[in-house]
Amino acid sequence: MQDLLGNLFIISAPSGAGKSTLINALLTQHADMQLSVSHTTRSPRPGESDGVQYHFTDVTNFKQLIADKQFIEWAEVFGNYYGTSKAALADKLAQGIDVFLDIDWQGARQIKQQLPFVTSIFILPPSVQALEQRLNQRGQDSADVIAGRMAKARDEISHASEYDYWVVNDDLELALQQFSGIIQTQRLRQTKQAIRQQKLLAGLLANETK
Ligand code: 5GP
Repeated sequence: MQDLLGNLFIISAPSGAGKSTLINALLTQHADMQLSVSHTTRSPRPGESDGVQYHFTDVTNFKQLIADKQFIEWAEVFGNYYGTSKAALADKLAQGIDVFLDIDWQGARQIKQQLPFVTSIFILPPSVQALEQRLNQRGQDSADVIAGRMAKARDEISHASEYDYWVVNDDLELALQQFSGIIQTQRLRQTKQAIRQQKLLAGLLANETK
């Protein structure tokens, strides 16, 4: 997967950092980009459907897909399995489509080992208070439940330094601008343009005048 035309962006965040809102807004702004649809063994939540948010599957089938080496990465997150299909991702990148991967730090590590050109972005909440507030949005959960969610969030955040970029999600508009800057920077990298602009460069270097 080295000479692929599309750019690949990993986005990770603790829950409560506003990742889904940001990703949805990004997909609206960048209609030419796609979010990779992972496989998972967790049950669909209300409003989710198979093939849209996830490919929902059972543990037996998931383990078979692992054995068949169908995943470029997979991990157990909060007691469920999640994985990214190798073929689907390779197909999109080969077509020159830029792809977002919404995966956790374990998946990010595996992808980086195999695809060093990937760009990884970690979304941080603006403060502990904001995180706590977002993790207790319904205001009905017990202190224990919230403490458990905070511990999981801290675990994810403890891996933030493994990422190329950080975006602090305080003001949504600002966070979106920062994301767009990262996307633009990556698209302008010489190694990517060398493939896209092969013809242009060959023409510019050709030793002939018209
Ligand atoms: P949720 O069940 O709330 O949709 O996702 C839980 C966590 O699993 C999130 O942190 C999300 O980024 C992560 N996740 C979703 N899909 C994948 C995947 O394919 N691989 C990995 N490693 N993590 C994933």
